Amino acid sequence: MLQQVATSHVHLKDYYGFLDEESVMELERLSTRLSGLKVAHLNATSMGGGVAEILRSLVPLMNGLGVQTDWYCINADTDFFQVTKNIHNSLQGGDWQFDGHAHDVFLGRNRRVAQEIEALDVDLWVVHDPQPCPVSAGLQSFRQAIWHCHLDSSTPNRAVWNYFQRYLVGYDRLVFCLPEYVNGSVPQERVRFIRPAIDPLTPKNQPLPVSEARQILAGLGIDPSRPLITQVARFDRWKDPLGVIDAYRLAKQEVPTLQLALVGVMEAQDDPEANVVFEQVQRHTGADLDIHLFSDPRHVQQREVNAFQTASTVVLQKSLREGFGLTVAEAMWKGSPVIGGNCGGIRVQIEDGHNGFLVATPEECARRIVQLIQDGEVRERIRANAKESVRKRYLMPRLLKDYLQLIEEVVLGG
Ligand code: UDP
Repeated sequence: MLQQVATSHVHLKDYYGFLDEESVMELERLSTRLSGLKVAHLNATSMGGGVAEILRSLVPLMNGLGVQTDWYCINADTDFFQVTKNIHNSLQGGDWQFDGHAHDVFLGRNRRVAQEIEALDVDLWVVHDPQPCPVSAGLQSFRQAIWHCHLDSSTPNRAVWNYFQRYLVGYDRLVFCLPEYVNGSVPQERVRFIRPAIDPLTPKNQPLPVSEARQILAGLGIDPSRPLITQVARFDRWKDPLGVIDAYRLAKQEVPTLQLALVGVMEAQDDPEANVVFEQVQRHTGADLDIHLFSDPRHVQQREVNAFQTASTVVLQKSLREGFGLTVAEAMWKGSPVIGGNCGGIRVQIEDGHNGFLVATPEECARRIVQLIQDGEVRERIRANAKESVRKRYLMPRLLKDYLQLIEEVVLGG
């Protein structure tokens, strides 16, 4: 059930260009304090989605700093991931009821994961999201553990949250992105807040000349001479792909040459619903040849995502719920104007009208698309502010520091 994900070591000095002197000193202090400690991250999938994206960079950096860190994910069946996707949806506010079967599947698989964990020599576990959360229940060797919830649980299905929170008692710290995600009788003294970050050194986030990005898009069937709006996101109902298509259709009435790309490569084993949403999207697309759908990982990898985020006229992330939304930071980092759904983690990244736009409906979204396409001055102002706000707040070294400080607090008492 437990599968180790291969990772490497990355040295902090590669990131010096993104760090001030004080942060370098603090990271070196932390690495000395934590040397000899064995940390392991546990999540649901090694590919697809924001958590895997973060761990792929964070784990090698922790190792590079001398904090021995492993990464495990759960190798489970579709039955398990169907149940956990329902839990995920209902913690974000969806309508669903836990029944006996779901309980047995959820707990049964996690018990097996727990048995495998018992055999491992780890001092501190960092468990991500609901899927593996119950492993904490009743484990002897699970001495110290952090649960990091990446969801937007601001308006959860109450019954499911009440069921779920019994599994939180086994954790020393409970990490959320925002205060409004903390519900029910969660022990407040154990709650901490950490915002995610993007890695400026991955092929996805390194600078890519616009001309090269346009060539890559042309190779994928996009006409680089016409305006393009793009949403990079898993095919998931909370990402509102149907609302994006509606917004595109409205905007196209004013900008007839407009093209839309929906980029949602299906890699995440914990998201069995993606196919269903993709089919809905295909039906909603109809015969419109200016809507381009991408779901095949052979066609779109990191460099192609970079090209979409670099060369699109406007990037959308029209989510209805969003724990944080790495895609927003990724596009803003490339200086692209982003229109985001006015919810959760998008709201903290975008200051409406300053470094992007926040919208609640397809109509509002369409108005902003047209404005950004037609008004070069607004576009340029948003571009500069967007890049700067990510540089200040949402790059990986800051997340590394937040994590190590939290681990120090748990293991050594701060
Ligand atoms: N992503 C990708 N290819 C895709 C769709 C998404 O590489 O076709 C990446 C995206 O660039 C981001 C992550 O998957 O790094 C999604 O993270 P986010 O926090 O936006 O959303 P989540 O999927 O975790 O809900």
